[in-house]
Amino acid sequence: MKAPKTNQQFNENQNEKNFEKVWESCLKIIKDNVNSQSFKTWFEPIKPIKLHNNILTIQVPSQFFYEWIEEHYVTLLGKALKTELGQECRLEYSIIMENNNNSAKPYTVKIPTNSKKALVNPSISMPLDISSNAIRNPFVIPGLKKVNVESQLNPSYSFDNFIEGDCNRLARSAGFAVANKPGGTSFNPLLIYGSVGLGKSHLAQAIGIQAKNNFPNKTVLYVSADRFMTQYIDSVRNNDQNDFIHFYQMIDVLIIDDIQFFSGKEKTQDVFFHIFNHLHQSGKQIILTSDKPPVEMIGIEPRLLSRFKWGLAADLQAPDLETRIAILEKKLYVDGIEVPKEVIEYLAYSITNNIRELEGALTSLLAQSTLNKKAITLELAKSMIDKFVKNTTREVSIDYIQKVVSDYFDLSIELIKSKTRKREVVQARQIAMYFSKNLTKSSLASIGMQCGGKDHATVLHACRTVNNLMDTDKKFRSYIEELEKKINVM
Ligand code: ADP
Ligand code: MG
Repeated sequence: MKAPKTNQQFNENQNEKNFEKVWESCLKIIKDNVNSQSFKTWFEPIKPIKLHNNILTIQVPSQFFYEWIEEHYVTLLGKALKTELGQECRLEYSIIMENNNNSAKPYTVKIPTNSKKALVNPSISMPLDISSNAIRNPFVIPGLKKVNVESQLNPSYSFDNFIEGDCNRLARSAGFAVANKPGGTSFNPLLIYGSVGLGKSHLAQAIGIQAKNNFPNKTVLYVSADRFMTQYIDSVRNNDQNDFIHFYQMIDVLIIDDIQFFSGKEKTQDVFFHIFNHLHQSGKQIILTSDKPPVEMIGIEPRLLSRFKWGLAADLQAPDLETRIAILEKKLYVDGIEVPKEVIEYLAYSITNNIRELEGALTSLLAQSTLNKKAITLELAKSMIDKFVKNTTREVSIDYIQKVVSDYFDLSIELIKSKTRKREVVQARQIAMYFSKNLTKSSLASIGMQCGGKDHATVLHACRTVNNLMDTDKKFRSYIEELEKKINVM
């Protein structure tokens, strides 16, 4: 005959069956004690596995996850568990490990927490023997010893060299604030987005340079998303993912450039997610760049996207004319080269929406002039620009037409754009409208808007007037032909 069950045994058996219930009750306690974001991040992914001999086993997604829990939540976990299971309970982790032998099946490792100690003394966390050696720096080729983390920053991408304009004011000032107080502003992460060649990398590095200057003891690191991914893949191959993760977790100001490269790369996103959480929760600064705003990013996990929105997303727009001219002038000044103002203006008028191309045009102009021993003139600039941008988006702009016409008649651009009805201004304005109609794809309405706020009928009338005059007045016609050469299209 079987001995009747004692009460305690009975309870245990009941509990063993109810490990899910036990965990659920623990979660309730935990939920009341952490913020909802942390709860989602760190507790929702945990699965209870079993309850045996008053030891609750929970499964966590990674070793990193385990360490995080032990470091930050062991006291709370302990309290919750004690409430549910009494003083003598213990907690055991089961960690899903990536198996390196290419078999897809995850395997688990049990790591019993030193619950007794942990329960009474929250400051003692279980050090896990992840690597007894120093953490490997993925930027250093094995064998070469490097003590400090090199920032990988390009010193010429400084704030000093970054021209401020309406197009970048918000991003620039947020970046400046972040550099002066890394991790201490609400701009964390700071996400800088904008299309190619508008200065994302430059600004991101400027923040890094400035932060490093302000806080020499902080570890600043700039890395392209591409490189981050390669390093991660290498770390998996070499079985030192933990070093990879730990390396990135030591950084105080982490700058990742072009995160659109993470799109569709689930594993990389996963590891970045953990690094992000660690840095963010320890008050470290994260700066990201992307060619799109978060709402348009495709192939990036929602949990990451939502984190990108925690801080500030600031965009870079195409620079206006004044800013383009200032950028070219700054570059020439830094290089100690002098170029006629009209050439600078011509370049700035011709290339409107990519600063890299704008600089490229200037560089090839300088090269042409040096190689062919030709002076840098407007002629040279025009012939070069034609070759340079012909195949891209070259279209004479209304701005440029107005500039050539106003120079030709020795009037100011402002007059042409004004509503004045002075005879000589009216004629110059009509000529500018005529060229704008013939040489650009702009609509009559938009030409009218840009030439003194006129309507489309006024523009049509201007075109007719110019055509009539050309047919009847030889002198007028020669003006127009000369002007057309100056505007020098296609
Ligand atoms: P992105 O990363 O957005 O493609 P980059 O940061 O590489 O663009 O910028 C392209 C080039 O334009 C760089 O040489 C950079 O120095 C220059 N540039 C961009 N914005 C500015 C600016 N506001 N002032 C000065 N130079 C700039
Ligand atoms: Mg870039």
